[in-house]
Amino acid sequence: MHAGARRDESGVCGRHSRKQGGTAVAHRNKHSGRFRMLPVLISIPHGGNQVPEELRDRVCITREDLFDDSDAFTREIYDLGDDVARVVKADVARAFVDMNRAPDDRPPQNPDGVVKAATCFGRPIYIPGREPDENLTERLVERYHAPYHAQLVAAAQSDMKLALDCHSMLSHAPPISGDYGRARPLFCLSNLDGATAPDDLLQELAAAIAAAFEIPLSEIGLNDPFKGGYITRAHGTGTVPWIQVEMNRVLYLVDPWFRSDTLTVCPTRLAELRARFRRALHRLAV
Ligand SMILES: [Zn+2]
Repeated sequence: MHAGARRDESGVCGRHSRKQGGTAVAHRNKHSGRFRMLPVLISIPHGGNQVPEELRDRVCITREDLFDDSDAFTREIYDLGDDVARVVKADVARAFVDMNRAPDDRPPQNPDGVVKAATCFGRPIYIPGREPDENLTERLVERYHAPYHAQLVAAAQSDMKLALDCHSMLSHAPPISGDYGRARPLFCLSNLDGATAPDDLLQELAAAIAAAFEIPLSEIGLNDPFKGGYITRAHGTGTVPWIQVEMNRVLYLVDPWFRSDTLTVCPTRLAELRARFRRALHRLAV
């Protein structure tokens, strides 16, 4: 949808990928030669921008609204390729199928559910009267949501020491949230108050990110403002610890890196953030 993402998809990120049920999955990688491969699983559920073929004649969402509703460029930032054991990432945009919602979390009870009635900013997604009905919603969940979670289950083997569900967040809480207008830290890490990963691992990751990004530890919120979404809650009950990572969009979706007319980000800045994220994970004793 936006040029920056397309460029990277056809480059390094896409080289190790194969398509499967609407998601791209990195192969289990061998030792890269330059870095030790980390026993880490990375999930990137909101970096996609594709419209499912089932919805092509129904959508009216604008390019800008689709961009705002997504975690734009998170695939470019978090996909560490050969450095980690496994990367699972969605191609379909969050506005159409949200991997971080329970499969039965649906409109009208929740307009921001697994399939949505509007974007998280209340912007229209579908041509009026062409919203997905129950049958189509079921098909979308089966075709896109279920395979994503099946891949997470398959990837989270016992030799995996850590799983990270990686997102971006707005710099301030939006109207939809209870703390509208509140400034957010540069990162938020969450383990559902100790339920999906040990607290000491959460703190170790916070220290590693603070060091790698050269930011104060106070700029990393722990379980505040987020405690973790459906992905960490659903998968973080087994032997593999799951932590949700939220990076503040002020780190790249602002001047001088972001161009709002083309919705692109300076590739050098994205590469720098990816390098710092890689450095943070290599600091962990996993
Ligand atoms: Zn997200």
